[in-house]
Amino acid sequence: MNSGGGGSGASGPVVPHWIDGARADSPGPLAPVFNPTLGVQVCEVALACADEVDRAVRAAAGAFGAWSRLTAQRRARVMFRFKQLLDENRTDIARIISREHGKTLDDAEGEVQRGIEIVEFACSAPQLLKGELSDNVGTGVDTYSLRQPLGVVVGITPFNFPAMVPLWMCPIALVCGNTFVLKPSERDPSAAIRLAELLKDSGLPDGAFNVVQGDKRAVDALLRHPLVKAVSFVGSTPVARYIQGEATANGKRVQALGGAKNHMVILPDAELDSAVEALVGAAYGSAGERCMAISVAVAVGEETADRLVARLKVRLSHLQVGAADAAGVEMGPLVTAAHRKRVREYIESGEAQGASLILDGRQLDSSLCSSGFFLGPTLFDHVLPGMRIYREEIFGPVLSVVRVADYAAAVQLVNSHEFANGAAVFTRSGEAGRRFVHDAEVGMVGVNVAIPVPVAFHSFGGWRNSMFGDHPAYGMEGIRFYTRLKTVTERWPDATVQSADFSIPTTK
Ligand code: NAD
Repeated sequence: MNSGGGGSGASGPVVPHWIDGARADSPGPLAPVFNPTLGVQVCEVALACADEVDRAVRAAAGAFGAWSRLTAQRRARVMFRFKQLLDENRTDIARIISREHGKTLDDAEGEVQRGIEIVEFACSAPQLLKGELSDNVGTGVDTYSLRQPLGVVVGITPFNFPAMVPLWMCPIALVCGNTFVLKPSERDPSAAIRLAELLKDSGLPDGAFNVVQGDKRAVDALLRHPLVKAVSFVGSTPVARYIQGEATANGKRVQALGGAKNHMVILPDAELDSAVEALVGAAYGSAGERCMAISVAVAVGEETADRLVARLKVRLSHLQVGAADAAGVEMGPLVTAAHRKRVREYIESGEAQGASLILDGRQLDSSLCSSGFFLGPTLFDHVLPGMRIYREEIFGPVLSVVRVADYAAAVQLVNSHEFANGAAVFTRSGEAGRRFVHDAEVGMVGVNVAIPVPVAFHSFGGWRNSMFGDHPAYGMEGIRFYTRLKTVTERWPDATVQSADFSIPTTK
């Protein structure tokens, strides 16, 4: 079994597509893939053209009939085997992720675990797909509803969770009876091929799961393909908005999850030591490259803010930054040199706009920075809502502290931001926590939990510009997204049947 990287091409390893149950090399252009810890290119990835996309979609369309006609139980059995193989291969997958993404091995294993939990959820498909029946809605008439698969569905995924986000989508889509084409991020494409191999080894028929590697060109071909019925997207807000517009215009169902700027409100009565630990993990874990990262700490009251910043400064000075696969490391590098440059520019802009730079990640040990794409933890205090570092998603290890006078001002800040993925409150007061749950206008709320990512049997999604479309990801919302409702009204021949009735049927 090949462990993910790629087939072989003339100019070194190339991560291929996966079409109709096999690796598919590409005659088209290639893009480099880097190891962010070392700062060196490790392989290249094929960039699909419209022809390759067409082949993948047609393979999925060809597999749909037989796969969708299997009983839900038989499809679930494939998921049971897939879960077992993911368990057995979790370290291998974590290594593949860490090598191309730069997150620590622990974090990468955590990502795989969250993906496995969605597969476990998908194993209960026979129960989840049960319809509803109303007996005798009219004399001798029964009505029942069932959910049927859509056909070929597409997943377009971001670089920051190269295994977990595809696993938010494909287990549920497949177990509902759809077939799937995945377009992973071109920055860390190898994990997707490993998932494809494991799905095949789980007994999934060829063609039911395909991978097209690529960039905007591949995405556009998928969005316009007439056989594609639905598109799941996770990525940045400008692209999410574009995907929703294009896919909808082409008659497809869409869920498009976008960017974030998650606030953590620290009330004066919060248990500060645990709040600081939670905040450090949430802001700097995975180098801040998480859509549920906390990037704004809202301190209520000057005294809370002073205490918070003082403790953060001490804790961050001990933060272990280093190679993603080294023991004890808490934060690895950013994904690419270009992304690091962009984050550095945000730090410059924060300084230029007058925020207090408490800790400057650009001062990190130069030996790390000269080899890999590292940037140290950065902390700004006295950040104001008009500043770019507050308004825009940075997606790096940069935390902004905003000082507000009271609870009402904190809620107003959370509710006024363009993004509304998640928000958290830290307090010892049950009353304040409960009020925040109701007051915060965001998709996911944490009370003394900094990263409130819903478990597999709930659903994930933000509000405002953090999500476009009506269905959040996974959980029952995933089942609803990947199926369409059919409602049947049924009467069987009966000697007592009346003559034709020309008025609208009622239950009288
Ligand atoms: P991105 O938007 O750049 O890319 C996402 C996907 O879209 C990739 O597969 C990419 O190839 C494709 N793409 C990029 N530009 C495109 C274009 N112009 N037209 C069509 N397709 C295009 O996102 P990223 O940098 O890979 O990931 C980071 C972003 O994802 C952050 O904004 C983060 O908040 C967001 N994210 C959101 C969630 C969520 O659940 N809301 C989860 C993870 C990541």
